[in-house]
Amino acid sequence: MSAESMFVAHTRVVTVDQPCRGFRRIVLAGEDLRRASPDLLGTLPPGVPDLHQLYRGARPRRDAYVKVLVPPPGGVSADPDLSAGFRAGFLAIPEAERGWMRTYTVRSAGRTRVDGHDVPALTIDVVLHGDPDDADDPHQGPGLRWARTVTAGDDVNVLVPSADAPAWAGWSPTGARRVLAVGDETAAPALISVAEELADPFGGFDGEADLVLELPAGAELGDLIAERLSVPAAWDASRPLDVARHGRVRLHVGHRDGDDDAGSPGAATGSWAQARLAALLGLRDADPVEPPPAEGEAREWSLAEPVSGADRPDTYVFLAGESAMVRALRRLAVGEGGIPKRNISFMGYWRQGQAEG
Ligand SMILES: Cc1cc2nc3c(=O)[nH]c(=O)nc-3n(C[C@H](O)[C@H](O)[C@H](O)COP(=O)(O)OP(=O)(O)OC[C@H]3O[C@@H](n4cnc5c(N)ncnc54)[C@H](O)[C@@H]3O)c2cc1C
Repeated sequence: MSAESMFVAHTRVVTVDQPCRGFRRIVLAGEDLRRASPDLLGTLPPGVPDLHQLYRGARPRRDAYVKVLVPPPGGVSADPDLSAGFRAGFLAIPEAERGWMRTYTVRSAGRTRVDGHDVPALTIDVVLHGDPDDADDPHQGPGLRWARTVTAGDDVNVLVPSADAPAWAGWSPTGARRVLAVGDETAAPALISVAEELADPFGGFDGEADLVLELPAGAELGDLIAERLSVPAAWDASRPLDVARHGRVRLHVGHRDGDDDAGSPGAATGSWAQARLAALLGLRDADPVEPPPAEGEAREWSLAEPVSGADRPDTYVFLAGESAMVRALRRLAVGEGGIPKRNISFMGYWRQGQAEG
């Protein structure tokens, strides 16, 4: 990512909501976002307040993400000089003023009014992981603390791709006949947005899709999904939810096997997701897969290869969530599942026991 392909957008927090117990929904808006990649925020025709009212093309990259410059305690959001690259610019800021950079998916985009002006807005849904009452809880990161305490009217800077650059994203089903997408709670904004795209009767998807979402024990999605997918208010989470009008898209939502040894509600074992993926791959008796060892500091991030011409892959697999979880899922899909690596996008969204670097 070159420095010219991105910029720091100055935004204001417009609303902070709690759509359900495990997520905080934060809407950021600002004039600067007009200069962001149309691939990220789309281009809204006049009179349309919300991109989700539009069909495919308006917001091509459903899992597009941005980097929030989380302010240090009592400080302001950093405004790095990107001319020498974004990491160098960020690290050049004195540590006490720097704060942190944290990555979040743009769940939806639209417009809102700030200071009497109509400006672009983006929504992020932040997972409330860890125990807020335990000051020693290792799962309490700065992004999480910011999400818990931020209020409407606060200013925050966000690193976004520029107008002439593509959005940062991994979702690229390339016309596959079958889509299998699996993620944990951090991937819920991406997967639900993907479900909306696939379920759109005018979206051009003519295959079959199964989207598998594993949540921590006791977590719920509440309004995160009820909003635009016209799903019943109460449904049996142990059975797939038919979210498409023609039954082409199924959303499977389940809970992982309890908490980890330390009793942490943030444990991401992937056990439920693995079993569900195995069943969807026709491997009903598959044993749980141990994730292969992490490759040092390398990021778990590899995108499916673009296809050319009339080549239409049979299956596209999209995996996002905790790093060890996505490694195990990929091993299952490639090994027993026999899916070619080139048809798999897998993205480690966070690492158990490690802060975002
Ligand atoms: C492309 C991409 C898109 C993402 N989209 C979203 C999104 O839409 N919503 C969202 O909430 N997150 C999303 N994430 C994940 C988010 O960036 C990480 O969870 C990040 O580490 C949170 O920062 P933090 O400051 O809270 O914790 P950190 O300071 O990074 O970590 C502190 C501790 O908390 C643990 N931790 C971090 N995240 C979690 C978690 N979710 N559950 C339990 N323990 C955790 C770490 O292992 C570490 O021990 C995304 C990540 C990527 C790469």
